[in-house]
Amino acid sequence: MNSKPAITGDALRASVEETAGRLAGRPRPAVATLRSEPEISFEFFPPATTGDEHFRATLEALDPLGADFMSVTYGAGGSSQERTLAALQAINSRCQTPAMGHLTCIGASRDSVLEVVDSYAAAGINRILALRGDPPAGTTEFAAHADGFDGAVDLVAAIAGRGDFDLSVAAYPEKHPQARSAAADLDHLKRKLDAGARRAITQFFFEPDTFLSFRDRAAAAGISAPIIPGILPVMNLPRTLAMARQCGTAVPAWLGQLFQGLDDAPQIRQLVAATVTAELCTRLQDQGVHQFHFYTLNRPELTWSICHILGLRAAGSGNVAANLNQRIPAA
Ligand SMILES: Cc1cc2nc3c(=O)[nH]c(=O)nc-3n(C[C@H](O)[C@H](O)[C@H](O)COP(=O)(O)OP(=O)(O)OC[C@H]3O[C@@H](n4cnc5c(N)ncnc54)[C@H](O)[C@@H]3O)c2cc1C
Repeated sequence: MNSKPAITGDALRASVEETAGRLAGRPRPAVATLRSEPEISFEFFPPATTGDEHFRATLEALDPLGADFMSVTYGAGGSSQERTLAALQAINSRCQTPAMGHLTCIGASRDSVLEVVDSYAAAGINRILALRGDPPAGTTEFAAHADGFDGAVDLVAAIAGRGDFDLSVAAYPEKHPQARSAAADLDHLKRKLDAGARRAITQFFFEPDTFLSFRDRAAAAGISAPIIPGILPVMNLPRTLAMARQCGTAVPAWLGQLFQGLDDAPQIRQLVAATVTAELCTRLQDQGVHQFHFYTLNRPELTWSICHILGLRAAGSGNVAANLNQRIPAA
């Protein structure tokens, strides 16, 4: 039994205020200890040359983090076909992490696209991100090749019928620029998944609510497959603005303000980028999101530090960190 007299009136108010003040002023606990480790994946573009030393080092740095897969982009129209395959083979031979090949069908015949599918399979790659691809520069409308696929739904169905592939498709939280409406875009996503894809990976976005409301709308539209948020760490604001314009992603004003005056300070930009991106991930984690697909832009140090903040550790982490630390770019 508590023999102390109850606190009442002004003393109670003062006590509550004092406690609230202490709570507000507490150091924020290390986020990593509070949440379970997320599942991650990494996206790269194929290096210009095979045997590229920077690409090898990038793979070596990120592989120990135990991602679900590492994906390599594919130039629409087949422009990077050989380099993409070579990069996928480099992942297969150097990494424990499985490789996922992107594949676009725009501007190509069905036969030539399916040949690429077969070359992926022959190289031991059964994970494919099946995409239509962007129309060539200067045009905004998709026009199917005379002997080609009608779009991603058609492509997914053809690959699914060709063998045992693990297929993913693209999704657009802020609507694809060519979609008639957000609802039509979701219908289309559902058709891609129903055609044989197991998951969707999203275009990048900057506000957690953009993804969370999309996730809710997708569930309401009957989509039950996992939707993995695509996370773009912003290192170079002008380049990000250009990419965002092209794919219809909104860039909040606060992001521009954060990078003001940092044009000549790449190391500080890196700190800001890691903080902002990790915060986006943790805010999503707080809403039950536990998978993240990182657009690495082939910059391992930034993605690695975000994963570190999120609590991911691997054997030899200290050495990897020391090596990466040397490589923070000078511009
Ligand atoms: C995670 C991710 C990775 C990517 N990787 C690459 C890459 O490696 N290489 C590359 O070139 N591009 C890549 N892209 C970009 C992608 O190719 C473009 O966004 C392209 O314009 C659309 O491809 P899609 O597969 O989403 O197309 P689709 O899903 O076929 O169509 C795009 C949109 O058009 C509308 N649409 C199409 N057909 C219909 C229809 N019959 N009825 C109604 N609406 C329709 C829908 O709104 C749909 O969302 C990637 C995108 C993402 C999100």
